[in-house]
Amino acid sequence: MAADPSVAVVRPAVGVLALQGDVAEHLRALRESGAAPAVVRRPDELDRVDGLVIPGGESTTMWKLIDVFGLAEQLRKRISGGMPVFGSCAGLILLADRLPDPASGQQTLGGIDMTVRRNAFGRQVDSFERDLVVAGLSGRPYHAVFIRAPWVEDVGPGVEILATDPGTSRIVAVRQARALATSFHPELTPDRRIHQMFVNMVRDQA
Ligand code: GLN
Repeated sequence: MAADPSVAVVRPAVGVLALQGDVAEHLRALRESGAAPAVVRRPDELDRVDGLVIPGGESTTMWKLIDVFGLAEQLRKRISGGMPVFGSCAGLILLADRLPDPASGQQTLGGIDMTVRRNAFGRQVDSFERDLVVAGLSGRPYHAVFIRAPWVEDVGPGVEILATDPGTSRIVAVRQARALATSFHPELTPDRRIHQMFVNMVRDQA
C-alpha cells in the first residue's frame, strides 16, 4: 500500500535515563513502540530528546548518581517545563513530589503531585503479578509485574488515577499532564500498550 504523504511517520526521540536499572529493556520497548530511543547520561544528551523514561531499579542509588552526574537541576527544569516523562517503579518514586520514608539523603525530582511509599508491597511479597484494568488501554486487562514495588498513597486534584491493584486497592498507575508513572514494570513484559501510550504522549508534544 502506498504511504499517505499527508500522514507524517514520526519516531520521536525518547531518552532512557541510563544511570542504573533496567535501561536495555526500556530501550527495546520504546523501539518496538515506534520511538527512536537514546540513552541519557549527560545534560547534553537530555537536550536532544523529546521525552524521557526513568527506569525501574533502585531509587536511592539512582538519586545518588543523578546528583553525582550533575543532572538534577536540568531534569527538574525539563520536567517542570512540560517534557513528557514516564517513570516505572523506581522511576515512579523519583517523580513523586513527596516521600514519607526516604532513605537518608534521598531526594526526588518531583513532577507528580503524589505521596509514594517505597517498598510498600515488599513485606507481603517481594514480587508478584496482577491483571489490571488500566484507564486508556482498550482490550484485555494489562498483565503487570511488581518487584519490591512502591504504591501511591495519595494524589492531588490534578492527578488522574489510571489503575489500582485489585488485591490492596492501592493506586499503581497515575498521570498528571505529561508525566506518567507506574508501580510495575511494563518494560519486563511483552505487552507494549503502556509504552505506546507514552510514545503517543511524546508524539503529541514533539
Ligand atoms: N524498591 C525500589 C526502590 O526503592 C524500587 C524497585 C524497582 O524499581 N523494582 O527504588
